Amino acid sequence: MDDPAIQNRLAFDRNHLWHPYTSMVEPLPVYPVTRAEGVRLYLEDGRVLVDGMSSWWAAIHGYNHPALNAALADQSRRMAHVMFGGLTHPPAVELGRRLVALTPAPLDKLFFADSGSVAVEVALKMAVQYWHARKQPQKHKLVTIRRGYHGDTLGAMAVCDPVTGMHRMFAGVLPQHFFADPPRCGFDDSFDPGDCDSLQALLERHRNEIAALILEPVVQGAGGMRFYSPEYLNVAREMCDHYNVLLIFDEIATGFGRTGKLFAVEHTRIAPDILCLGKALTGGYLTLAATLTSERVATGLAADGSGVLMHGPTFMGNPLACAVANASIDLLLASPWQARVQAIEQQLKDELQPCAGLPHVADVRALGAIGVVELKQPVDMSRVQQRFVAEGVWVRPFGRLVYLMPPYIIAADQLRQLTRAVVKVVSEISNRSAA
Ligand code: PMP
Repeated sequence: MDDPAIQNRLAFDRNHLWHPYTSMVEPLPVYPVTRAEGVRLYLEDGRVLVDGMSSWWAAIHGYNHPALNAALADQSRRMAHVMFGGLTHPPAVELGRRLVALTPAPLDKLFFADSGSVAVEVALKMAVQYWHARKQPQKHKLVTIRRGYHGDTLGAMAVCDPVTGMHRMFAGVLPQHFFADPPRCGFDDSFDPGDCDSLQALLERHRNEIAALILEPVVQGAGGMRFYSPEYLNVAREMCDHYNVLLIFDEIATGFGRTGKLFAVEHTRIAPDILCLGKALTGGYLTLAATLTSERVATGLAADGSGVLMHGPTFMGNPLACAVANASIDLLLASPWQARVQAIEQQLKDELQPCAGLPHVADVRALGAIGVVELKQPVDMSRVQQRFVAEGVWVRPFGRLVYLMPPYIIAADQLRQLTRAVVKVVSEISNRSAA
């Protein structure tokens, strides 16, 4: 790290570049990485880290995968990008075909967005436009549950948890929506129908104002890494039908196998009216997302004669991103991903268990390739991050959560390195707090 060139780059980074959720005044330290391969990140100073994050749910096949590299190189020789207005191309059509075939039956109309947040914006617009075209323009509010996370753009933020989504700071800018209590039943718990009371009360009272219910099915990600009963979603579907409200599932984090099913909706008996995908869609290579909906919604939102969906990003359907997404999906489906994710889940459950006995740990849980140690107090990010790097792993906690979501290709001994580091570092936090 004494190399002046490295120091110079770090100084520029510190003074000029924002990183996610950081301050320009007191930036957190960053670690320069020069390359990544498989489940390893190679730091500029020669250290090698085992990746426990999949670059935020995305790099499911690991890094620098030859099949994905080849798809990208091949497409780049034809065209990197052309506008999607008035033009189309094989990578977009082929990706559309795959997504329509893989997602639940009624979802066969598709909009390519350029990030997860934009896919959520498009979903919200679809829902509002649907009721507008059906001569019910007063149905333009949304309902969701607390502790959710749907992205950082203003429309998406307005349906994030009101506390962690910083609604207070943006009060007056964010539209006001309705927030129900999140379900208390964990993924494996027997379902308590009382969990739906809060949602039902809001739907009953505001059915004439509400366009859609938006949920992250089964796993609430960045809002708290909570796993809840799929039965809640079955009941939510019934309620949406009863109260004439569309149902949006945000599977940007859960899609492509992370929860043990290809899509989390497969834990349920139902299908949403609108589905958002992103993150692992391109195997973590490029930013691309998609919003799928049914014939009923697609034709419904065109019912007033205007018919156009009011969105059209510059990089819509980017050919490079679509080509790498096609290769990523083929790679996933040709791999024993279910067995891999199941094995990861079991190993996470077994090896994170020692944390459960620590006095400062509130809960330890795992579902699919997601393992969570929830502490009672927020961690000191910069210190804990440093400790994980010293242990040779890349684990990035947030708030009270220390969690792992490794690439599916991780070997058992590499995953053990991650879980051992979590147990060790979390134990140190507990010891320090006790001292
Ligand atoms: N929805 C969910 C459930 C997410 O986890 C995220 C990203 N963390 C988003 C939406 C936003 O995606 P992006 O960061 O690509 O805008």
